[in-house]
Amino acid sequence: HIGPLRPDASGAEVRPGVVLFFRDLTSARRLEAMRADFVANASHELRTPLASVLGFIETLQGPARNDAAARERFLDIMRGQAHRMKRLVDDLLSLSRIEMRAHVPPTRPEDLTAVVKHMIETLTPLSRERGVAIQASLPDGPLFVLGDRDELLRVAENLIENAVKYGETGQRVDVNLGRVAAEGTQPPQVAFSVRDYGPGIAPEHLPRLTERFYRVDVAQSREKGGTGLGLAIVKHIVQRHRGHLDIASEPGQGACFTVTLPEASRG
Ligand code: ADP
Repeated sequence: HIGPLRPDASGAEVRPGVVLFFRDLTSARRLEAMRADFVANASHELRTPLASVLGFIETLQGPARNDAAARERFLDIMRGQAHRMKRLVDDLLSLSRIEMRAHVPPTRPEDLTAVVKHMIETLTPLSRERGVAIQASLPDGPLFVLGDRDELLRVAENLIENAVKYGETGQRVDVNLGRVAAEGTQPPQVAFSVRDYGPGIAPEHLPRLTERFYRVDVAQSREKGGTGLGLAIVKHIVQRHRGHLDIASEPGQGACFTVTLPEASRG
């Protein structure tokens, strides 16, 4: 109820009434549902390899106790499953560390040319193994952004590794880094892009690719050692660096992931 205007002690006219507070319950509920979903997904992802390891231990203590060949085979499988759990826990920890720092943008200038060069060198053996050639087009000199070196390395690693893993049939991956032509009053930007010529991604999957645990093909991702968290990590790092991640793909034509970041003046 809102009453008529009345003068207050200072002579100003005030309207006595009720103050209403609105709280957006729908978005609070949505966040809660997302959190519950995340915990359920993470638990399920860990439970599967854990159940497999427990199963093999029981077999090794029981029926396969005296079977040396089976023991070697089972130990190999168990090691693979343990590695899978470790990758998952490492990715979960990375994600939570990045989220904790989400509102603290990095302040140190970092040379993105050096970061990308380093990651290409690191991933060259893997790409050779998969029969993929990485073709790089990088600036001659340094290109600075305000950034965290480890996080920028992680972005380059996840995008190049995905291109090599999922686009291997195309046998070529293009990595580009350079300045973006400035538009109007926009501060100068740098763009880092990774393009593959593999099977690409159907349009209905594109908006969901950066969700945690979202995979186009779960079996394929597992077989290639994926956790389903790589692109979620990339998205969070790029957001913390005040940048953008753009994903473009045409099925059958490959995929292109582009990260745009504000350029920093100098190191
Ligand atoms: P994963 O650990 O499964 O690789 P990511 O978050 O890195 O998880 O990627 C999510 C999913 O996006 C992958 O499982 C795959 O289905 C799809 N994807 C990522 N990069 C590419 C690519 N370059 N080409 C085709 N599909 C891709």
